[in-house]
Amino acid sequence: MKILSINSGSSSLKFSLFDMKDESVIASGQFERIGIDGSFYTIKYNGEKIVQEVELTSHTDAVNILLDKLIALGIIKSFDEIDGVGHRVVQGKDVFSQSVLVNDEVLEGLEAIKDFAPLHNPANNLGVYAFREVLPNTPNVVVFDTAFHSTMDKETYLYPVPYKWYKEYGVRKYGAHGTSHRYITDCAKEILGREDFKLISCHVGNGGSICAVKDMKCVDTSMGFTPLAGIMMGTRSGDIDPSIIPYVMEKEGKNIGEILNDLNKSSGLLGMSEFSSDMRDIVDKCDEGDEKALTARSKYVRRIVDYIAQYYVLLGGADIIVFTAGVGENSIPVRREVCEKLACLGVKIDLDKNNITREKVKLSTDDSKIEVWVVPTDEELMIARDTLNLIKNR
Ligand code: ADP
Repeated sequence: MKILSINSGSSSLKFSLFDMKDESVIASGQFERIGIDGSFYTIKYNGEKIVQEVELTSHTDAVNILLDKLIALGIIKSFDEIDGVGHRVVQGKDVFSQSVLVNDEVLEGLEAIKDFAPLHNPANNLGVYAFREVLPNTPNVVVFDTAFHSTMDKETYLYPVPYKWYKEYGVRKYGAHGTSHRYITDCAKEILGREDFKLISCHVGNGGSICAVKDMKCVDTSMGFTPLAGIMMGTRSGDIDPSIIPYVMEKEGKNIGEILNDLNKSSGLLGMSEFSSDMRDIVDKCDEGDEKALTARSKYVRRIVDYIAQYYVLLGGADIIVFTAGVGENSIPVRREVCEKLACLGVKIDLDKNNITREKVKLSTDDSKIEVWVVPTDEELMIARDTLNLIKNR
């Protein structure tokens, strides 16, 4: 069975085609600058990478070209070979607590909540519409980044603000990266060989969130009403005192949109270092003794440790801590520094193992009180797995 996993943005469409027999990726790639001059696509297949400029006026164009290319390259012989298409949707609100097959009612639900995540959901929906138009007989499944967090209890997801904000406007914690945290939870189950464990999952990339998991269920997560909350990120601030906002608005004569833009795009590592949002650049500058880079890096580590410590207490201990995503999978110094700060919890890692990157590896020593692992995340595979499960059980 072949499943397409789709991540559709406002001007891009990323895909991975899986052979679900062995969960291997047959082809992957992306269509970029949809609706903008200079659009092009990239397809990776059989160890080769094809990059081609092409006019893309809409997501439907991208889907048509993708399918034609899959045939032209001999990757599939007919469209019927694609058994299902899974789509990433950023926000499911409290309407969608799990992945679902798309039908007219689900489309109505997607439309009803789309303004809630205006930068992402409408773009995610475009991918669903495009595939329904081009492959009308192929089932579509929507997989929500928030769904894994739907098991948080009320005390956790409510903010201590007027209750009316929740009841009338839906102000609550929704979380994000749920598909990644769910994948890591499944991997932790495989590693530990049981389902009754306490996991702290650290998805640390350009965006980042930490998730506390007990017995396979999310009990808390660091992202909140939006992905601006929680730990410090590449360009996002994470948690700050909200009173800073009107203060800086007045100082800089900015409106709320401009300040939110600063918090989303000019904060985090970029804001503190004043030169890069990329941890690789920050580490290089730290090696040169750059003071702002050094402070940015230690603040970044500190925010991760703050959340791990908080969740350690919330869970009443931890069996396993997992690092994943760009920084978590690759940054040797960040992992080392986080683990050094967790020594008081009995965490011990093998520094040679910590030199391994981009691979599933156990970092902790045998006498560590908590197992520490690096597990590369695979949200695309999770989307494909959900799609397969739902179409099999139709
Ligand atoms: P996104 O949140 O956009 O999905 P990723 O999970 O792909 O981001 O993470 C991208 C980030 O990972 C980069 O911005 C960079 O900070 C970090 N990163 C990638 N490779 C390395 C590396 N070798 N060392 C340190 N950081 C890295």
